[in-house]
Amino acid sequence: MADQDAVQQCIVSPQEEKLEPPSDNSEGEVIQSHASSAVKFTYDSFGQGMENLTRKLVPGVEENVSHEDTRENVKASDVRGDDSLEARAAIRRLEFKRSRNYRRSLQFIDDTPDSQVDDDSGTFSPQTVGKLVSGSISRSGEGKQSFREESRDDDKEEGELAVPGGGKSRRRYRSRSLSQSSTDSYSTSSYTGSSSEEDEVSPREKNQKNSKGSSDFCVKNISQAAFGRREIEIAEQEMPGIVALRKRATDDKPLKGAKIVGCTHINAQTAVLIETLVELGASVRWSACNIFSTQNEVAAALAEADHSIFAWRGESEEDFWWCIDKCINTENWQPNMILDDGGDATHLMLKKYPAMFKMIKGICEESVTGVHRLYQLSKAGKLTVPAMNVNDSVTKTMFDNLYSCRESIIDSLKRATDVMFGGKQVVICGYGEVGKGCCQALKGLGCTVYVTEIDPVCALQACMDGFRVMKLSEVIRQVDILVTATGNKNVVTRDHMDKMKNGAIVCNMGHSNTEIDVNSLRTPDLTWEKVRSQVDHVLWPDGKRIILLAEGRLVNLSCSSVPSFVVSITSCTQALALIELFNAPAGRYKSDVYLLPKKMDEYVASLHLPTFDAHLTELSDEQAKYMGLNKAGPFKPNYYRY
Ligand code: NAD
Repeated sequence: MADQDAVQQCIVSPQEEKLEPPSDNSEGEVIQSHASSAVKFTYDSFGQGMENLTRKLVPGVEENVSHEDTRENVKASDVRGDDSLEARAAIRRLEFKRSRNYRRSLQFIDDTPDSQVDDDSGTFSPQTVGKLVSGSISRSGEGKQSFREESRDDDKEEGELAVPGGGKSRRRYRSRSLSQSSTDSYSTSSYTGSSSEEDEVSPREKNQKNSKGSSDFCVKNISQAAFGRREIEIAEQEMPGIVALRKRATDDKPLKGAKIVGCTHINAQTAVLIETLVELGASVRWSACNIFSTQNEVAAALAEADHSIFAWRGESEEDFWWCIDKCINTENWQPNMILDDGGDATHLMLKKYPAMFKMIKGICEESVTGVHRLYQLSKAGKLTVPAMNVNDSVTKTMFDNLYSCRESIIDSLKRATDVMFGGKQVVICGYGEVGKGCCQALKGLGCTVYVTEIDPVCALQACMDGFRVMKLSEVIRQVDILVTATGNKNVVTRDHMDKMKNGAIVCNMGHSNTEIDVNSLRTPDLTWEKVRSQVDHVLWPDGKRIILLAEGRLVNLSCSSVPSFVVSITSCTQALALIELFNAPAGRYKSDVYLLPKKMDEYVASLHLPTFDAHLTELSDEQAKYMGLNKAGPFKPNYYRY
């Protein structure tokens, strides 16, 4: 079958990890473990699948790919963090309570992108999957994606809004309107909505229908659909890889018959993924993995396009689980795949509908937290289906952690505080991928950057990159900005914050809100002033104030947005993982957690190269032989660190 051929690629064997016994509460809920995991995989067991993929990617490739491929040492940070479901539920409850008291005080006008993408330029023209892969790695510029200027007249384009399947052959540049609704809904949830919105009747009590008469959704306001569609189209312009994948695989419908329960952030970028999956044949039911991150107008656009979306910004804890439940448990629709970000859909199904797992062909998990839970479930013998660990794909980690954070740390600090960076003293806790990105960005803007590290290798790397490695206690009195990026807990304590200088900014880039001991600031002697959405001033009795961003939660996701381009990379990986799990013949995958092979990373990267008109060099036969490589890749062993 063409569709299966197109996606026979996940040639990985189960992780072989040595974990500590699970700290499990015996009800299926996985509590964190501090054990580090060592994961390996080889291509051996699924060599044929790899060959199929290789042929698809680069026709004419030699058949017998032979190499040893191991991947080891999944980062210890992946299994850290106080992120038990109970803890997260408590955090959500707290966040929701607080949100009701918040009043948005920051409005901003966003920039529109300078370049426009013309879909007719050729690179991503609709192809069959078979045709598609042949051009996947642009080696000579033939796949160049062209850009050209077009009108940015909002009014003119308002009438051109496309709907999925709407048949517009050529998308035009969509600039974001500067209407009230636009500024309300830009980017992530942090700046969306208003207090009056929060006081409205619950979406669960509204009787809404889309224009086709369907009411199989629950969103804030279906009438916002047109604006949401605009947001999705803007996101598509910066998501070349997932758009290319959609076009290349659309004829083969490799997800035909897939019924996917999704639980991810619902924003313009994930909407592009959702609609790609549908375009490839899947039917979906989707809820949000975070009570604050839903872009209401995007959820409305998806609902208007007949996707069953159950999400709105500012859900209560109960709403949150109700929405996931509505996706899982519905008449005449039995899910057979899960796409999770954080493990909540998997968790609910395990707890409430365990029998449903008989029909589930696989789970695809994006987050560190969710992956950690899957490994724990696997270890405890409670994982009954195969799962793909998307989080640890090379491209995902590299782009999401390093490059994305390198950009978004600046964006979020600027938006939240209007700070001038030049000359500021900054300390970054943790010199992993995220920390490196933050350091690079802040150094580039003229900051003096200090690094704290526990790992001598990372510390030495920081030194080689020109940063002073210090203990936090040594620099805490002098820094203007403190950023945590460790994945650890209580890295910044009350004692540290007591010593900080007046006006210092404190924020976290790590996954969980445990890196900064924010609770230690909730004492009667300190006064909290909400000055902007996601910005609190904490006042000491002597008048000193520190500026705490997003209450210690991920500052970039709370105060700015993640670049669409990065989400495109992750989305491609997720889509390919789903396609593989759905089409894999029985027995290829056991009930375990799998990593995607290097080949897949190379393929995802290749989908994004045309954007930059990048011309890859091709190995000569002689060179390939000399290096012991297949000319079509993979070009690196899986243990290779980029
Ligand atoms: P990493 O493991 O590569 O780096 C973390 C570093 O912190 C390690 O080098 C570790 O030695 C160091 N560290 C641990 N405890 C420390 C301590 N007490 N003091 C100083 N250093 C310490 O992980 P990463 O990929 O850089 O990710 C870091 C965190 O950021 C994770 O929680 C991850 O989930 C999260 N993350 C955030 C984003 C985002 O958009 N904000 C994106 C990806 C990952």
